[in-house]
Amino acid sequence: MIDAIVIGGAFAGLSAALQLARASRSVLVVDAGQPRNRTSPAAHGVPGWDGVPPADILDRFRADLAGYPTVGILRDRVNGISGRIDAFQVTLDQSDQVEARRIILAHGVRDILPDLPGLSEAWGRTVLHCPYCHGYEVRNRPLAVLAAGPMVAHQAHMLRADWSDDVTLLRNGVEGLDKAALQGAGIRVDDRIPQRVGGANTLKIAFVEGPDMDVAALFVAPRVDLSDTPSDALGVGLADGPMGPYVRTGPMQQTDVPGVFAAGDLATPMWNVNFAVGDGARAGTGCHQSLLFPDFIPALEKEAA
Ligand SMILES: Cc1cc2nc3c(=O)[nH]c(=O)nc-3n(C[C@H](O)[C@H](O)[C@H](O)COP(=O)(O)OP(=O)(O)OC[C@H]3O[C@@H](n4cnc5c(N)ncnc54)[C@H](O)[C@@H]3O)c2cc1C
Repeated sequence: MIDAIVIGGAFAGLSAALQLARASRSVLVVDAGQPRNRTSPAAHGVPGWDGVPPADILDRFRADLAGYPTVGILRDRVNGISGRIDAFQVTLDQSDQVEARRIILAHGVRDILPDLPGLSEAWGRTVLHCPYCHGYEVRNRPLAVLAAGPMVAHQAHMLRADWSDDVTLLRNGVEGLDKAALQGAGIRVDDRIPQRVGGANTLKIAFVEGPDMDVAALFVAPRVDLSDTPSDALGVGLADGPMGPYVRTGPMQQTDVPGVFAAGDLATPMWNVNFAVGDGARAGTGCHQSLLFPDFIPALEKEAA
């Protein structure tokens, strides 16, 4: 029986594990090795690491943990969880079942990318999801935004306000957009249907009809999914975010299943490496407090009610 299993060993999970490591608690981090920003050549907006490849940041996080003898990191995938607080059983694809007193969910989310040929190949390079993460590098150049979810107008207005005066919203057949407000803000609205995208340094967008469009980047705010994940298996309570579900957590990242904590992209409607690291640290300390003081989390919840 180990103290905690951390499911997902990227920004949130490794941050959580570090807090438990520093209390000499036994921790196993199980990681399938597919962080969400893996296709991106550089992570931005992360103090001390601005512009550094995500894999290099995570290598350093793992190197930090290597100095703590109570922490193990396993490259594997969790495929099932059962049990309850103080006695969880976790099954893995390739290794034996593990038992733990606490669970920290940090397995991230699955992006549901629009079904546009070429888009997934350019994801993280010239097809981008977040102006804060990648907008600065393409500022003052032609940008497009693909209508693929409820945040499209919001994203177009942001980009037009502070990143470029050349922004085109590709309506992609989506109805109900406030065209007058978009055009009033200086955003072009293109009603043509995109057919495919491609290109290395800039992006060429081909349409069913009419000429191609060249842009520095196409922004897409994809919906996300948590089905068939360890969070789903545990049945933790979810909230509805604008881009999809996320795990509801309290002030120490506790979920509504006793003994289960959650951090990172799966536990927030707004995604960012810094948030994942911060919430991971909170989950790690919350988990440690609950191991030491079983009444700690219930008392917090009572106070918040
Ligand atoms: C293309 C792109 C670029 C981005 N660029 C930036 C940026 O520049 N700056 C920034 O701040 N944010 C950026 N983000 C957001 C950032 O990637 C996320 O906020 C961050 O990765 C969240 O960290 P996390 O630890 O919660 O999840 P993730 O990084 O997604 O890590 C989850 C880990 O859990 C593993 N896992 C999943 N299921 C299981 C399982 N069943 N068993 C075991 N392991 C499992 C995964 O393989 C993965 O390694 C970007 C996002 C995208 C999509």
